[in-house]
Amino acid sequence: MNLTSKSFSNESDLINHLKTHTPSFYHSSRTSTVIPYDKLEAEMKGPLVVADLSKIPPKMTLKGENVIIRGAVNWQDADQFLKSHGRAIMTSPTEQLALILAGLATSCTGERCFAFGNMRKQIVRLKYLDFNGVEHELSADKDFPSTEGLAAYQKEFSHYSGYKNAPYPRFEKETDLLIGTEGQLGIITEAEIKTTTHDDVTHLFMLLPKWENDYTAHLEIFKAVQHFRGAVISCELLDSNSIAYLKADERLGQSQDVIFLEILSNEFERVYGELLGELQHVSPDDVFELSSAKFHSVRAGVPRAVFEENSKMGVKKMGTDCQVSGDHFKDLLDFYRELSKLGVRYNLFGHFGDAHLHYNYMPRPEDSQKCQAEFEKLYAQVLKWQGSPFAEHGIGLLKQKFIKPFIHDTQRMVFKALKKQHDPKSQFFPQGFMTTV
Ligand SMILES: Cc1cc2nc3c(=O)[nH]c(=O)nc-3n(C[C@H](O)[C@H](O)[C@H](O)COP(=O)(O)OP(=O)(O)OC[C@H]3O[C@@H](n4cnc5c(N)ncnc54)[C@H](O)[C@@H]3O)c2cc1C
Repeated sequence: MNLTSKSFSNESDLINHLKTHTPSFYHSSRTSTVIPYDKLEAEMKGPLVVADLSKIPPKMTLKGENVIIRGAVNWQDADQFLKSHGRAIMTSPTEQLALILAGLATSCTGERCFAFGNMRKQIVRLKYLDFNGVEHELSADKDFPSTEGLAAYQKEFSHYSGYKNAPYPRFEKETDLLIGTEGQLGIITEAEIKTTTHDDVTHLFMLLPKWENDYTAHLEIFKAVQHFRGAVISCELLDSNSIAYLKADERLGQSQDVIFLEILSNEFERVYGELLGELQHVSPDDVFELSSAKFHSVRAGVPRAVFEENSKMGVKKMGTDCQVSGDHFKDLLDFYRELSKLGVRYNLFGHFGDAHLHYNYMPRPEDSQKCQAEFEKLYAQVLKWQGSPFAEHGIGLLKQKFIKPFIHDTQRMVFKALKKQHDPKSQFFPQGFMTTV
């Protein structure tokens, strides 16, 4: 047996396990799309403990306008807790059952990133357990600790600074040691996170032609919505192929693309008049309101259905996570149009307002290789556009083969120094990107 499973129901058992220095992969809710959880036995090299952190007792407390999260708290529960105190989470992944501390490890983003930026920006401080099971605290007010090669690393990172995430972690603040490093340097146990006021919001959707045939309206909305960040909280796309994954009574439109806007209710009239009222390519007859609950179920329903179909087909998820600058958004859509001609079923959805879309092939096992080849061409192009190939879901195992062109000796040197210092016994996710690239 290659892998052994272990579950922790309290922190002291976890600390005792860390002290054994056993090579382990620590997971939370297992919603990461870049870790093939249903194929771990085949994909992870053993001997390895697959260590479950999702049973550690959850704890939430308010400290002024910040929330302190300890243990296995998911986004849904935190949202309910904060709502009862008139506060709200700023950024969370579409999958609300994921755990918050894991969201730090993956540097998660989500729909509301359009208004609030990614989660990393909202972290005030965090605590983590090191390789000896000793807890440390890191602050976002302090700089990243001096590390061999860090100055060059930070310089090379600078052209990614406008993106949600880059192909490698940011390493700017002290807290960044554990943010986006996917559990390769320690186990996050606690975080203090900024919140915002709980405001009334209104959700709208617009029906559009299929992007493959005509994306004029899409591009008009993309350009116009940039001036309304803040009043518009999120701007999401589900294309007609994505909508087809929903149950018949949940579908919107008649085989059309759908763009959703989440708008602060007290800004609604202004946004309606100045943004929607000015669009030349969207008729007011194609704009509708929907409830917040329906928006969330429809929006999360699509990636879940895609994931389930891939599992049923026995194929690994084959989706993109690229974010490009606004100047290259049309180029990205053109590239996706080319990909759509391969003769393999596909869908396109995601964080439209941020020029960050997930294009998914839905291959039969025998199509997988030709889809991979198409993605390799895409990543080569994203490199030329100086875009971010993995802006949200991280690298895990599944994106490692695509990361290499984006990583140079500078990044390798820093990864090596950090692993040596923080994981001297190679006990944290030994197959993670910091070791393999
Ligand atoms: C339907 C769907 C929609 C999604 N939408 C989004 C989205 O909008 N934005 C987004 O960012 N992601 C999204 N994701 C991906 C996923 O939800 C996030 O990556 C999430 O942060 C993973 O949380 P988890 O609890 O499932 O972590 P897991 O999958 O259990 O673990 C993910 C990684 O974090 C590490 N890790 C977990 N817990 C800890 C810890 N306490 N300390 C250190 N390392 C740890 C693990 O080792 C692993 O490398 C989506 C996934 C699905 C299935």
